[in-house]
Amino acid sequence: MDASHIASLLLALPEGLRISDLTVADTLLIIQVFSTHPLACCPDCGHLSSRVHSRSVRTVGDLPCAGRQIVLKLTVRKFLCPAPDCPRTMFTERLPDLVQSYARVTNRLREALVALGLATSAEVSERVAPSLGMMVSAPTLLRRLRAVSCPPPTTVRILGVDDWAWKKGQLYGTLLVNLELDKLDEKQRQHVEQLQAAHQDLDTAYQLSQAFVSMLVEHRHQDLDGWLSQAKQSGIAELKSFAEADSP
Ligand SMILES: [Zn+2]
Repeated sequence: MDASHIASLLLALPEGLRISDLTVADTLLIIQVFSTHPLACCPDCGHLSSRVHSRSVRTVGDLPCAGRQIVLKLTVRKFLCPAPDCPRTMFTERLPDLVQSYARVTNRLREALVALGLATSAEVSERVAPSLGMMVSAPTLLRRLRAVSCPPPTTVRILGVDDWAWKKGQLYGTLLVNLELDKLDEKQRQHVEQLQAAHQDLDTAYQLSQAFVSMLVEHRHQDLDGWLSQAKQSGIAELKSFAEADSP
């Protein structure tokens, strides 16, 4: 096994990609990569081609290695499409296992940055990423976070409502939490039941929360005033505060 193959394995490059050269520049590692696939598939007609027209170099960021930022210099080939009736006479080979078309970072670096952004925030990620050997701007990361697919919304059966003051007396926020009891383990369920037994207010809060969810789901705007009135009279400080903050 030659050194190039070993380096490819260490960097976990997808099958068929090889390293031709490495350059270390301070905290930067520049890696020249090329594809060994003999054929490429035309994206329009699907025909395979082995006729290389030309080569160009594409620069993409990759996951850091041993504290060094990594830049891949990908030598990509342009192939001539063999199908005479294909509107695309020439196409650039795709490397979807490594990087998407026109992307400036590899799939795995994008995934790492998105994970960092989801765990912190775009602004924090922008500050922290360089110390991890990655570079990203907050607006770019925000755009990627918005592209992350979310599971479809489900009907909320058990809702927790809380509110807090961003700035007391001026600006309030409300927190709605899906408290699906089925997802509690046995110990947590017992704890909830003990709390319900010890605090009768919990039943009232539960009933009002359920009524609130039902009102939202069924779009019964006309019932809001009645619900706010019940919340104010419930004797539960959080619900009373929530109702009064939302009253005109
Ligand atoms: Zn074609």
